[in-house]
Amino acid sequence: THDIHVIGGGLAGSEAAWQLADAGFRVRLSEMRGANLKDGGDATPAHHTDGLAELVCSNSFRSDDADSNAVGLLHQEMRALGSLILREGDVHRVPAGSALAVDRDGFSEGVTAALSAHPNIAIVRERIDALPDGPAIIATGPLTAPALSEAIGAETGRDALAFFDAIAPIVHRDSIDMETAWFQSRWNKGEGTDYINCPLSKDEYHTFVAALLAAEKTEYREWENVPYFEGCMPIEVMAERGVETLRFGPMKGVGLDDPRTGRWPYACVQLRQDNRQGTLWNIVGFQTKLKHAEQVRIFRTIPGLEKAEFARLGGLHRNTFLRSPELLDGELRLKSRPAIRFAGQVTGCEGYVESAAIGLLAGRFAAAELAGKALPPPPRETALGALLSHITGEAEAETYQPMNVNFGLFPPIPGRSKKADRKRMYTDRAREALAGWIAA
Ligand code: FAD
Repeated sequence: THDIHVIGGGLAGSEAAWQLADAGFRVRLSEMRGANLKDGGDATPAHHTDGLAELVCSNSFRSDDADSNAVGLLHQEMRALGSLILREGDVHRVPAGSALAVDRDGFSEGVTAALSAHPNIAIVRERIDALPDGPAIIATGPLTAPALSEAIGAETGRDALAFFDAIAPIVHRDSIDMETAWFQSRWNKGEGTDYINCPLSKDEYHTFVAALLAAEKTEYREWENVPYFEGCMPIEVMAERGVETLRFGPMKGVGLDDPRTGRWPYACVQLRQDNRQGTLWNIVGFQTKLKHAEQVRIFRTIPGLEKAEFARLGGLHRNTFLRSPELLDGELRLKSRPAIRFAGQVTGCEGYVESAAIGLLAGRFAAAELAGKALPPPPRETALGALLSHITGEAEAETYQPMNVNFGLFPPIPGRSKKADRKRMYTDRAREALAGWIAA
């Protein structure tokens, strides 16, 4: 007997189970790793142990600086809300400068031990293949087992569940040079402010294509085997098909009038608004497997993007995630079946800390609901609130792709200020807002 079923014992599921158990509710926590061992065992292609909250790749929770970094601020907020993932992260910390890095085995053992010892939690080693009926949180991650993915897709519609991300870089709007770039939709269709255009001359275009071809790419893991759908082909693969391919694809100049020349540019890079606040813009059609440093170097050669600050760089991975802005309500409930919440990377956040943070919120929302109370969402000025509102409504549903927490998701700070001061303004404002929320 349990009050709620949490499926998936990763970063998000472990945190959600902890928050619920701590609030006094009995949790069944289902984790497929460690189950069906007679038949070879259930596994994902990336996990190597059967420990809960296993870190599949790096051992870093990134910056721990809560004054000038959005993920550091998220750490601080999670600690204030009794996060198990942060508590064990702090216990198993290893030296890493201003970052929070952990001894991965000690960390996972610590989380497993804390959950196992909690009287309200039953950890069951089982794979879940169908959607649950009763109150549940699904936190099965980017490598959700196939049968459950199928069941989720059947409920949400196949188009609303992605199996790969195809990430184009996202740029902070205030780092684009609007002396060079201009607002215009191709052929003046749609609103005049739908796209920002960065023009390239013939020489600039050829230099750009040559740089793409010569750049260092990230290798796929064997199991990733990402298919190149026509709609999400990496730009460097398009460039390999011929020197003109990009100029007749995502870098078309036709129908765009450069106000400085009155003519169509030889080639053009377009950016499209990525969040409702208009602080983040994605480079249209620029999904890529180039190494991150190479992306920064090469994309800053695009006129208008010389000083671009990237909220996210491009990538292409196996990754199961929902089109959450359309499917989930503000409390992470599936609109079509509100007994079910989603948490973690399957909601389209990205990263260990973000996944655990969304697990924390899903656990708290569910606990409030079980107690017959309403929990208002954390204010959007906080890192938790900014991330949540991105997932549940701020982001554009059509182009939704996984995202780390960053200041571009926060409501902008009005007026002009120096970059370093602005970060401090974001984090000071967030602390005040979180304190108000906790007090209420
Ligand atoms: P997970 O931690 O993956 O937890 C999901 C759990 O659900 C797993 O334990 C899985 O076994 C279980 N499960 C799945 N299906 C079922 C089922 N049907 N029934 C029962 N249990 C099930 N983020 C970073 O911050 N840094 C990195 O270095 C990093 N590297 C990554 C490398 C890879 C290869 C991948 C795929 C992702 C990486 N990420 C990284 C992204 C992300 O942060 C992690 O995937 C993170 O673990 C997501 O947390 P989660 O709780 O959503 O999912």
